[in-house]
Amino acid sequence: MEIVYTPWRLPYVQAKPTDGCVFCAAQKAPPSFENLVVYSDENLLIMLNRFPYTNGHMLVVPRPHVSSLTGLEESHRCASVRALTLCEVLLRDLFRAHGVNVGLNLGQAAGAGIIDHLHWHILPRWIGDTNFCTVVSELRVIPEDLKATYDRLAGGFAGKTI
Ligand SMILES: [Zn+2]
Repeated sequence: MEIVYTPWRLPYVQAKPTDGCVFCAAQKAPPSFENLVVYSDENLLIMLNRFPYTNGHMLVVPRPHVSSLTGLEESHRCASVRALTLCEVLLRDLFRAHGVNVGLNLGQAAGAGIIDHLHWHILPRWIGDTNFCTVVSELRVIPEDLKATYDRLAGGFAGKTI
């Protein structure tokens, strides 16, 4: 059996549960690697997923703490689609993505991990990226650590407005 070490995940595994909403908490400080926010404006945040499916897995998080699209103002819905568009551009440019998955899980039955504060997932895909480790052993191998991904995307968002 092959052993794969992922020491960068230890702080996440050992972290105490956060009181309250992690997305609301992330709004209280400027973008940084600590809160994983790579972009913020008056409507939304874009942040890295702390537990990514692959490199470049981002979350587009409208600022209001609501669980449904119906709870968002029109301006937040429009800004979210503009944000997803910029994310797609950066994933294709910076990660050479062949394709992009975009998803919104509303409610526990739909697979939402954080139910009360809606957020879009957007992640790059490459032809042939289905990894046998994930299929046979529930092990996910991610070739770039989170800090390097953060630096790459933060640089990509620098100077951009949504
Ligand atoms: Zn929230």
